[in-house]
Amino acid sequence: MDNYSFDRIRDNIRVICGNISEACDKYRRDSVKVDIMAVTKTVPPEVVNWVFEFGLDLLGENRVQEFLSKKDSYNKSTADGKPPRIHFIGHLQTNKVKYIIDDVDMIQSVDSLRLAQEINRLAIAHNKVMDVLCEVNIGGEDSKSGVSPDEIISLLEQLAPMEGIRVKGLMTIPPPDNSDIFLGKMEELFNNIKDKQITGISMETLSMGMTHDYVNAVKHGSTVVRIGTGIFGSRNYV
Ligand SMILES: *Cc1c(COP(=O)(O)O)cnc(C)c1O
Repeated sequence: MDNYSFDRIRDNIRVICGNISEACDKYRRDSVKVDIMAVTKTVPPEVVNWVFEFGLDLLGENRVQEFLSKKDSYNKSTADGKPPRIHFIGHLQTNKVKYIIDDVDMIQSVDSLRLAQEINRLAIAHNKVMDVLCEVNIGGEDSKSGVSPDEIISLLEQLAPMEGIRVKGLMTIPPPDNSDIFLGKMEELFNNIKDKQITGISMETLSMGMTHDYVNAVKHGSTVVRIGTGIFGSRNYV
C-alpha cells in the first residue's frame, strides 16, 4: 500500500467530481446523474475501501480471479450505510459466470448470446435477475470484445425475453485515438435504440468514459464513467 496516498486519492476524486459537474453544466440538458465507478484492478482492497469515505459506492471489476481474492476484504457498507455496488466490466468467459453470479450487481460486458444464455441460466437457478449491459465494439477493433453496432439490435431482441436477465443499456471502450468521434457514434447508437423502445429492454445506462476521455464521454451522454488511473494512480503490473 506504500504507493497509495489517502489524501491524493481524495483529491483525485474531488477533481473528477468537479470536472463532471462542469461538463454536465456545459453540455447536458438532461438531469441524469453521472455515476463514478472506481475501477479496482491491481489496487489492494484496503485502498479500494478508501473511496467509500470519499462518497463513491460503485466498484468495477475486470478479472474474476482477482475479484474473488479481494471481495471479502471490501467494506460491507459505504458512506450512506448501504453495501457497495459491484459491476463486472472485464471480458467474461462463459465458464466463469458461476463464480461471480452471486457477488456482482451488474455484468456490463455481455458480448455474445452464449454468455447471456449462461448468465440467464444461472440467475434463474439462483433465484435472481441479473442486470446487464451489452458491450459494443464501437471502433470495430479486432483487439476488443463487444458486439458490432450492426449486430447489437438483434442481440438485444434475443436477450429481451430472458427471465434471468434485465438489460439496462450499453457499455463501450472506444479506440483511444479519435475517442471523441467514437463517443459521438455511441451516443447516437444509444439514442436510436432508446427510441425504438424494444419491449423488455431498458436503455437507461450508457457506460463509457475512462481516465483519458471521461469529460468527453459525459459530453456525449454517458451515465457511468469507469475510472482507474485517475483515482488510484498508474497501475504497477506485476
Ligand atoms: C481498466 C479499465 C477502465 C479504467 O481505465 P483507466 O484508464 O485506468 O481509467 C475502465 N473500463 C474498463 C473495462 C477497464 O478495463
